[in-house]
Amino acid sequence: RLTGVEKDIEKLYEAVPQLVSVFKIEDKIGEGTFSSVYLATAQLKRGPEEKIALKHLIPTSHPIRIAAELQCLTVAGGQDNVMGVKYCFRKNDHVVIAMPYLEHESFLEILNSLSFQEVREYMFNLFKALRRIHQFGIVHRDVKPSNFLYNRRLKKYALVDFGLAQGTRDTKVELLKLVQSEAQQESCSQNKAHIVMANKVSVSVPAPKALSQSSTQTAVKRPYSHAQIQTKQGKDGKLIKQPKPMDITSRKLATKKKVVSTKTVTSSITRKTASTCPANLTCDCYATDQVCSICLSRRQQVAPRAGTPGFRAPEVLTKCPNQTTAIDMWSAGVIFLSLLSGRYPFYKASDDLTALAQIMTIRGSRETIQAAKTFGKSILCSKEVPAQNLRTLCERLRGTPGLAAEEQEERAQEAAQSLRTEQKVQVPLGAEHDRDVSETARNEPPASLKGWDHVPDEAYDLLDRLLDLNPATRITAPEALVHPFFRDMSL
Ligand code: ADP
Ligand code: MG
Repeated sequence: RLTGVEKDIEKLYEAVPQLVSVFKIEDKIGEGTFSSVYLATAQLKRGPEEKIALKHLIPTSHPIRIAAELQCLTVAGGQDNVMGVKYCFRKNDHVVIAMPYLEHESFLEILNSLSFQEVREYMFNLFKALRRIHQFGIVHRDVKPSNFLYNRRLKKYALVDFGLAQGTRDTKVELLKLVQSEAQQESCSQNKAHIVMANKVSVSVPAPKALSQSSTQTAVKRPYSHAQIQTKQGKDGKLIKQPKPMDITSRKLATKKKVVSTKTVTSSITRKTASTCPANLTCDCYATDQVCSICLSRRQQVAPRAGTPGFRAPEVLTKCPNQTTAIDMWSAGVIFLSLLSGRYPFYKASDDLTALAQIMTIRGSRETIQAAKTFGKSILCSKEVPAQNLRTLCERLRGTPGLAAEEQEERAQEAAQSLRTEQKVQVPLGAEHDRDVSETARNEPPASLKGWDHVPDEAYDLLDRLLDLNPATRITAPEALVHPFFRDMSL
């Protein structure tokens, strides 16, 4: 009898049979809206058995979105704490990205046992990764603990998941230039009915202008074909470009346009989805192994993929059209806020406006409104709330030093507990030792404070600079790395 995970593994082998000869898929380690991640082992020629993470992307993703995620990893990955890619496999609409596996902690589980020094190292390494991707003009847009893998014992870090990434104006990742920004999508959706139509019948009526535009892009940018998504990295570590231009004739389009009504197209999409175009379109681009103009002009099928509201910067929450790498720095600030306050998630909001209201309760409503003006947004707020002092806030939440006796005791117990488990991991201790450890912890609470009793002002200054409501003045990754908080740490 197969379990759910075993069934999923079977299905993956069936969908992408090339995997069978290379990998032994052991377990499912992540399941999101847009992908599933598996742990596999690979026995490569000679060499030892390697652990590999296999990311199976949801087949309904836009082909350009998939190729862009891969290109971010191949162009910027593999150094400075940015995850790299080893191989990529495709069969039909199924794409699997193979990466080195990094065993990592659950952020929530370790949050309250981290020493202050470990927090410094964590943030330093996060900024290293962000500096790297920002250099390439990549805005990650989903910076959060589950996308920044952390192996505590090995002190290893890896930024993963470029599934939402976007390019800056001068991005060095070519495919990000083709990825539609959310703001663009926003302005497009002004005519929703039209979009729905265009989506359903994009085969017959891509707006003439859009089509010609994307055709030009096609010719100039030499897009990556669906087949290339499957291609392993070229010699220079980049994807190999397809020399032939697209091959969808206008005659074909015209014929289809003439014949079908919306209804028939819809049903023909359903019918053809499984066997033809990976983009779920009734075009022949899969058959010709090209990214055709139809795919290029096709609108995102799924709802715009938003990052997690609690980590989104105010300019993102208010849908400011020109978003920069500064939005990742805000998200890093929210992670830092969790680390300093010992609370995760810090902002727990299911939608953007709730998230904005929660930011106001920390940074002040007047301040938020003021900052929003600088990027052209006016916010109406029912109630005025003052900004809070970050040190006072974090110390109160973390519970050190001046906190209620009961809570203090609770904390000490927790600390003793975590100390015990930690000791157990390192050296198997007997029952005797266990008791000793907990006694020590109870008698000497400062030992369990791990540097939390003397958090320097620099920490809160850096936090303040990250959670700058104004993206234009917010601290950048290279600036953060030389902030006094990281004095004596070398790059
Ligand atoms: P999603 O788009 O579904 O969030 P991610 O790329 O973030 O996909 O991967 C989901 C989860 O899978 C991560 O949070 C992490 O736990 C695990 N994971 C992803 N890549 C790796 C890797 N290279 N090594 C180890 N675990 C990984
Ligand atoms: Mg993720």
